[in-house]
Amino acid sequence: MKDIIKRFWPYIKEYKFYYMLVIFGAILIVISTAATAHIMKPLMDEMFINKKKEMLYLIPLGLIAIYMVKSIGKYIQTVFMEYIGQSIVTRFRELLLEKMVSLDMQFLYVNRSGELISRVTNDIGRIQYFVSNMLPDVARDILTAVALLGYVIYLNPLLAFYTLVLVPLVIYPLIAIAKKLKKYSYRSQDKNADVVSRLTEVFNNSEIIKANATEKFEMSRFSIQNWQFFKINMKAVYVGSIVSPIMDLLAAGGMAAVIYIGGQEVYDGRMTVGEFTAFLTAIGLLLEPVRKIGNIYSKIQDALAASERVFAILDRESLIVDGKKELSEDITKIEFKNVMLSYEEGYALDNINMDIKAGENIALVGDSGGGKSTFINMLLRFYDPDSGEILINGENIKQFQDKSVKHHISMVTQRIYIFQDTLAANVAYGEETIDEEKVKHALELADATAFVRELENGIYTMMSEAGANLSGGQRQRVAIARAIYKHASLLLFDEATSALDNESEKRIQKALEEYTKDKITITIAHRLSTIQKADKILVLQKGKIVASGTHEELLENSAVYQRLAGRFAS
Ligand code: ADP
Ligand code: MG
Repeated sequence: MKDIIKRFWPYIKEYKFYYMLVIFGAILIVISTAATAHIMKPLMDEMFINKKKEMLYLIPLGLIAIYMVKSIGKYIQTVFMEYIGQSIVTRFRELLLEKMVSLDMQFLYVNRSGELISRVTNDIGRIQYFVSNMLPDVARDILTAVALLGYVIYLNPLLAFYTLVLVPLVIYPLIAIAKKLKKYSYRSQDKNADVVSRLTEVFNNSEIIKANATEKFEMSRFSIQNWQFFKINMKAVYVGSIVSPIMDLLAAGGMAAVIYIGGQEVYDGRMTVGEFTAFLTAIGLLLEPVRKIGNIYSKIQDALAASERVFAILDRESLIVDGKKELSEDITKIEFKNVMLSYEEGYALDNINMDIKAGENIALVGDSGGGKSTFINMLLRFYDPDSGEILINGENIKQFQDKSVKHHISMVTQRIYIFQDTLAANVAYGEETIDEEKVKHALELADATAFVRELENGIYTMMSEAGANLSGGQRQRVAIARAIYKHASLLLFDEATSALDNESEKRIQKALEEYTKDKITITIAHRLSTIQKADKILVLQKGKIVASGTHEELLENSAVYQRLAGRFAS
């Protein structure tokens, strides 16, 4: 707990002024609470016993004044507490997302998107209590308790002592409950991640679910997670809700003691009726903050569990360490030197050696799982080699600032990414100002002009989520246009034309020939027409380059290539 407070401390310090306002509100509440007890004394002694008439209006007016102060205090406290909590939580959401997207691809592959969403939404929300309510609540309740305690002791020390011996009795069960709650809280957060993961999966795979009529099947899978989530939350409720009744019992015990012992004090003339009433009221009021502190203690467990998780992600170091050097000129040379990479077991890339120069057009072929996509992904530093090195323009890729390298690379994958934005913004993805002419030119090279002309608002047509308003081939052409728009010096096509018809692919290829003349192009393809034109073909099998050369050379020398060539689509 200390560690977590330490982590939040810089933020807490920034909100000093707001905390001060909260404390000011709390002080108003404390003063008025103590006054509520104190007003009982004149109510009994002056109004009833001494029958002073003016008390009849003084006391009600006093009571209203006291509650006015209390209400103002409460409002100030609540508003600024929320302000602190909401704004820290909002900032943490940004911090967390910033961290998550900056981490290596491995992190993003391994963690389900639902789990990450759950971290950013649910877990962060649970922290709010910790940073906003906890400190001021504890401060206010301790202050209130101390003020009332002082008042009670001042009224009758002996009676106060007898009532308060009860307090330590509840501390131990409270601690035990808190431990359990923290455990449940962890599990609840896990389950929340499971539920959100199922949801994201269902929505991402909605087509296949509809196509297979598996709505019921998915529903039952969701239902299991959902009710497990319910169960674990209820467990926390069963245990957590014990706190309040325990506190109530303590309250009843305290009151009973006061009535029994205090009643005798009044009979024996050591206490006035007014003092007794004030004492009883003060004890009643005192139990409120004590009970609240107990509740806060159990609520904190939830926030603690969430904070630990969030900080675990914030503390994570990316496996990919960014370089310092800026790559300002175009990529004109790529070298792989003894590059090895294994994901789990076996090598996905096994001792790869390769030189590629500007103007070259390289094709990668091989059975699926051979390591073709991995080869391409290495140039984007999704992973760093286990051993060996990758050089760009003669320098290790690790030396460069990641962003400056990516600036020179365009990639199109088989999976197409369309953002909910206009078509133009999708083509000019990531650019602040959209160059309309450039967009149109890119779409033309990508053989997209014809279908774009049909669109209602042309290049300013909004794309729906994942590009649902386009056909697969149209989406792919948009993705190719995006790659062209960027004017990168290294183009990576990972089965980028798989959804296109032959004619369209040929047109794009022809258009790109001129465009890529001075660039490096690496293409993973299945079509003979694409491969034939390549300056060099690499045959990748089980992570090794088993053959390389032109189409004609390979047809002559490589048995693997002959076999693959038989399967290429023409
Ligand atoms: P290709 O693109 O030639 O079909 P890949 O490069 O995608 O092949 O995959 C090569 C091997 O590495 C395969 O055995 C695949 O299962 C494995 N692999 C690919 N990506 C990952 C990943 N992110 N995590 C773990 N294993 C992976
Ligand atoms: Mg692949």
